[in-house]
Amino acid sequence: MPRKYFIKTYGCQMNEADSVRLAGVLESAGYQNIGGSGYQSADIVLVNTCCVRRHAEDVALQYVASLKGLKKKNPEMIIGVCGCVAAEPGVDILKRFQHVDLVLGPNEAEKLREFLKPLTPFSPSPLVRGKGKYKGEGGEFVTIMRGCDNFCSYCIVPYVRGREVSRPIDEVLEEVGRKIEQGAKRMTLLGQSINSYKYGLANLMRAMGPAAERRGSQSEEPRHSVSGSELVQFLTSHPRDMSDEIIEAVAELPYVAKEFMLPLQSGDDEILQKMNRGYNLDHYRGRIKKIRELMPHARISTDILVGFPGETEEQFQNTLKAIEEIKFNEVHMFAYSSRPGTPAAQLLDQLPEKVIKDRLQQLISHVHRLVA
Ligand code: SF4
Repeated sequence: MPRKYFIKTYGCQMNEADSVRLAGVLESAGYQNIGGSGYQSADIVLVNTCCVRRHAEDVALQYVASLKGLKKKNPEMIIGVCGCVAAEPGVDILKRFQHVDLVLGPNEAEKLREFLKPLTPFSPSPLVRGKGKYKGEGGEFVTIMRGCDNFCSYCIVPYVRGREVSRPIDEVLEEVGRKIEQGAKRMTLLGQSINSYKYGLANLMRAMGPAAERRGSQSEEPRHSVSGSELVQFLTSHPRDMSDEIIEAVAELPYVAKEFMLPLQSGDDEILQKMNRGYNLDHYRGRIKKIRELMPHARISTDILVGFPGETEEQFQNTLKAIEEIKFNEVHMFAYSSRPGTPAAQLLDQLPEKVIKDRLQQLISHVHRLVA
C-alpha cells in the first residue's frame, strides 16, 4: 500500500509554493497526498510554518503541539516542521517538541529527499504528479526568486529566508513550459520582492511569449477572452522597484494579467521611513498614476500595516486618507506585531496592544465603507 503524506500550510503564496515543492519530493518517493481529513493516518505530516506575524507563528506551533498525541499512538509517523519558523533564530523546534523528527528551513526541500533516502526508493523522474491538492510541478506557482534584500524594519523574512537569489530566465521558462505541457492554464510568478528580479521582470515576461502561444494553442478557452488569454500574474511587488519598464511590459503583453499587488503599508511618510520602505507617498501615487494611465481597468491591491511603533493618531489617519484617495480594488489589513530580531522590535515606543487592535478595527470599517 502506498505511503501517505499530509502537508499543513500556513502563510503566504511563497509557503504554498514551498509546500508544492515538498509534495513533489514526497510524491517522487512514492507517497500519496491523503488530504486534511485523513491526516491522522498519514505516514508523514509536514507543518509548513509562517513567522511573519506573531499570531501566525503561534497558530502554527499550536498545531505542531497538537500532533503529540498522534505520534504517541503511532510512533512510526514522521512529523516535520518546515518553513519560516524552522529557520527563525532562537526557536529550537527539536528541543521544544520532542515528537518532531525533522526540521527544514524554507529553502530546504532537498534535505527532505536526503532524510527519506534510507526509507524509500525515489522515482527516477524528479517529480511525479499526484492526486489531490498537490500536483508536484503541475502546481500553479513558479518561484522565480527567493529571499529578500530589503530589510523593512518590521519584517523577519530576510532573516529566515535569506538574501535574494534569482533563478535564470531559461530555468524559469523551462518550468513554465513543463507546467503548460501538464495542462496549466494560468500561473503566478512568485518572489518576496519580485520586481527586483535580477534578470529583469520585464525581460522575463517578454520571454514568455512563445510559452503563452503554446498554452494558447492547447487551451480550450477562447484566446482573447479577458480571463482566458492571460497566462501569468506576479506577486509581490515593491513600490520602490515598480519601474516604468515593468508597467509598460504588463500593459503591452496580452498574456500578462493586468493585476498589481503593491503593498503601501502606510500612508504617512515618516512611518514609511521608519519602516525602511524606501519610498514616500508621492512616489507611490506616481506608480499608481502610471499604471492607471496605461491600464485604466488594472486591478490594484495592497497591504496595510497599522500600529507600527510610534504611529500617532494623525499618522494613522493619513493612512486612512491615502486608502480613500487611491481607491484600491482590495486591501489586505494587518496589525503590527513585534518580531524579535528586527530593528522595529528594538524601538521603545511600541504601542499598546489595545491601540493597535482598535486601529485595525477602524481600518477594517473604513475599507468596508469604501467598498460598500
Ligand atoms: S520587501 Fe520588506 S516586507 Fe517584503 S519580504 Fe522583504 S523585508 Fe519583508
